[in-house]
Amino acid sequence: MQKYECEACGYIYDPAKGDPDSGIAPGTPWEDVPDDWICPICGVGKDMFKPTD
Ligand SMILES: [Zn+2]
Repeated sequence: MQKYECEACGYIYDPAKGDPDSGIAPGTPWEDVPDDWICPICGVGKDMFKPTD
C-alpha cells in the first residue's frame, strides 16, 4: 500500500503498521484514515502529507 510522508517532520505513515497509538489499526489505507487524524510527531493534519516515491 502507498505510504505517506509528513512534509513538516518527515514522519512516514505506513498503512501496514497504521498508528495504533491514535486508534488507527494496522492495515488501514491512507484513504480510510479519518480527516481529523494528526501527525503523531508534530501534530499537522493530513493535508500536510504527500505520497512517498
Ligand atoms: Zn509530522
